[in-house]
Amino acid sequence: MRRGKKSFRINTQLVHAGERGDVPLGKPVSTPIYATATFTYDSMAEVDQVFAGEKQGYIYTRYGNPTIAALQQAVQVLEEGAACCAYSTGMAALHAAIFACELRPGSTILASQDLYGATIDLLYKVFGSYDIKTVTADFSDLQALRAKALESSPQLLIAETISNPLLKICDLAACSEIAREVGARFIVDNTFASPYLCQPLKHGADFVVHSATKYFGGHADVMGGLVVARDEVDLLALIGIMKLVGGVLGVWEAHEILRGLKTLAVRMDRQCANAAHLARHLLKHPKISRVYYPGLATESKQETVKRMLYPPNAGALVSIELKENTREAAFRFMDSLSLCVRSTSLGDVFTGVLHPATASHREVAPKRRLELGITEGLVRVSVGIEDIEDIIEDIEDALAENAKVG
Ligand code: PLP
Repeated sequence: MRRGKKSFRINTQLVHAGERGDVPLGKPVSTPIYATATFTYDSMAEVDQVFAGEKQGYIYTRYGNPTIAALQQAVQVLEEGAACCAYSTGMAALHAAIFACELRPGSTILASQDLYGATIDLLYKVFGSYDIKTVTADFSDLQALRAKALESSPQLLIAETISNPLLKICDLAACSEIAREVGARFIVDNTFASPYLCQPLKHGADFVVHSATKYFGGHADVMGGLVVARDEVDLLALIGIMKLVGGVLGVWEAHEILRGLKTLAVRMDRQCANAAHLARHLLKHPKISRVYYPGLATESKQETVKRMLYPPNAGALVSIELKENTREAAFRFMDSLSLCVRSTSLGDVFTGVLHPATASHREVAPKRRLELGITEGLVRVSVGIEDIEDIIEDIEDALAENAKVG
């Protein structure tokens, strides 16, 4: 490295040698990890043009980065949206989507009563502190939902495609209609379904949110979140939050999530098939009082399941309620598992179990939890891609072990 005829000295060479060479010929077949915080240009005039938006280019990774952009483009395509923005976690993505709805002090959010516990907390504790009120409703009871929407005049409806942990399928098309009727926007958290099973924008949602930590990543080794908007005008607000709140996705994480997406369909097919097999197997087990699985829904609900999810897949989560419906029995059962992992997440290649009453819904008051049907003996199983016989044997053995003690 030289300046004219002069060589630089050792400390300078250490800092600069090898960096900022020409862009190589030949397109990489996988998106490179652009591990750079900033981007440089040959002249200040060019920097000025990029800042002014007169010329396309990257400036600073909090504003945008090619690795993150590749992931955003992939998820935008998968959800068939007009714009997509990535964030550091699913919670950051949810925050951004809600913020993009431009609520004001005095606004009301109508939320599904069985949203993920942290989402409910976000609504009450964070948005509540700006005098934005949240009311909840059972989104599976469309008549009651419509009545609540007409009564509370919300600016925003928010639901999950597959509810947690009782795995009810939301009729997104019907909820979108109710949202339109009252002039509200509609956010759908599609984490449990993924775009492989459901594309909420097609059913009228305004925003789709994903925790990429789950099925997108799929290997329990990365966190991230994405928001896809139906209308391009919402992109400015989503980018604004990314730039100003700063919860951007890291480039390494973007790379891992992009890689995860490539196997989403094969993982999902197998996980859903395993889940359906497990749910049917446990249905008649003497130690289990209830099995929750969308594929087992009553005939009247099956129509919604088939319309919202791409059959024959009905999701890869199964919730079971032990006949001995206590926390002690649930813990004993979970402790006796030797293959299924006690894990506070879902959507991974391995089978993971979670106790909703002490994990996802820990902050919900016990009385309210019971009203929602989240009992102490309820265990949620996120079914993995292992051999189904091994998953079943592990669960059978743990139930038998539980019976000996209980
Ligand atoms: N949405 C749902 C349905 C979830 O289950 C979770 C986390 O469990 C989140 C959002 C939040 O995602 P993250 O943990 O990536 O912030």
